[in-house]
Amino acid sequence: MSTLRPLVLCGPSGVGKSTLIKRLFDEFPNKFGFSVSHTTRQIRPGETNGKSYHFVSRDEFQQLIKQGEFLEYAEFSGNMYGTTAKAVQSVSSSEHGHRRAILDIDSQGVKLIKMNHAHLNPVYIFISPPSYGALRQRLEGRNTDTDEAITRRLKMALHELHYARKSGSFDYIIVNDDLNRAYALLRKVVLETPDEGERLSRV
Ligand code: ADP
Ligand code: 5GP
Repeated sequence: MSTLRPLVLCGPSGVGKSTLIKRLFDEFPNKFGFSVSHTTRQIRPGETNGKSYHFVSRDEFQQLIKQGEFLEYAEFSGNMYGTTAKAVQSVSSSEHGHRRAILDIDSQGVKLIKMNHAHLNPVYIFISPPSYGALRQRLEGRNTDTDEAITRRLKMALHELHYARKSGSFDYIIVNDDLNRAYALLRKVVLETPDEGERLSRV
């Protein structure tokens, strides 16, 4: 079974990754599929278990680690997040229409995929905020996190931005200032990058 090159989206929490991904799915319902990660964090209003994430307990997450299910996993802001091989495969398999998988992961996950699963040959895209102040405003405006969680996420954002500044970390950096402009750039990148990857059976 051949697979299409996954798209890895990374960027600080609150920068607008989910918003951009949703627009892509709305415009191309059959071309892309979301790689549904597992997480131990609490479900937010508007999220659906099995669609936004697989919401699991820490014990269940540990069990999946032991079973070797994850391509990568990381602790982010006090919660565990991970991508299973199954999550990527289920998007790419022909039974689901052979779609291109989109992963929304943090920079720790990006590093792990580069180190351990480079054969997947993803396109790495960093979504950057126009400024730190704008990021704070978006996290506050989203109204899904406590003040403490927002502070932690803003702290994590510094790590994400630091990694993105290192040369060669990402294939593309898109500044999400104006949403329409950022979406037009993302659309161009995903439609114009070659999508042929290697075989998923090697995962
Ligand atoms: P992420 O998935 O990266 O954590 P979200 O997609 O949840 O971020 O976006 C965080 C908040 O910022 C949401 O309330 C969203 O509507 C808003 N947002 C996204 N893009 C922009 C933008 N370009 N300008 C202003 N607000 C934005
Ligand atoms: P949130 O709690 O806002 O949904 O996500 C917090 C952070 O976790 C974001 O940076 C998001 O990209 C990252 N994330 C989501 N799923 C995964 C995953 O499977 N692996 C890794 N490493 N990070 C993830």
